[in-house]
Amino acid sequence: MAFLDRTARAFLLTELVKGMLLTFSYSFKKKATINYPYEKGRLSPRFRGEHALRRYPNGEERCIACKLCEAICPAQAITIEAEPRDDGSRRTTRYDIDMTKCIYCGFCQEACPVDAIVEGPNFEFATETREELMYNKDKLLANGERWEREIAANIAADAPYR
Ligand code: SF4
Ligand code: SF4
Repeated sequence: MAFLDRTARAFLLTELVKGMLLTFSYSFKKKATINYPYEKGRLSPRFRGEHALRRYPNGEERCIACKLCEAICPAQAITIEAEPRDDGSRRTTRYDIDMTKCIYCGFCQEACPVDAIVEGPNFEFATETREELMYNKDKLLANGERWEREIAANIAADAPYR
């Protein structure tokens, strides 16, 4: 009986027809995929992407060179050097992140008392060489300028839960 059943199914192509019907039925359903990179999915305000150093609206650097981010970084990816300015304020002279070491844990952002170092929403920063992933202060500040609007909106959206 089982043999006859298998033979009948083989000749009548029932599996094939069932598969085609299933495929056809999905033609009318809502798409589960997006046309990346032309379309992008929604990101959580807590998404931890590429790092950025932020400035205040008057252009002053937020970072006060307290080195908490450097101390807490479990990957030891952050290197900071600092010295006082003429006005007595303390600012970094060097702020490097080795992005090849970073594990995107977000501890640096959590530790920062002035929301200076943040992990922004950018996830499209693949490079062809390792050297390009050695970020310095200029690169991080440039990231901050580029993504400030999105970063500020994400911090504001997450604020009620902190
Ligand atoms: S996200 Fe984590 S691993 Fe990366 S720099 Fe910040 S503290 Fe270090
Ligand atoms: S980024 Fe924040 S935690 Fe790191 S040194 Fe600057 S002020 Fe301190």
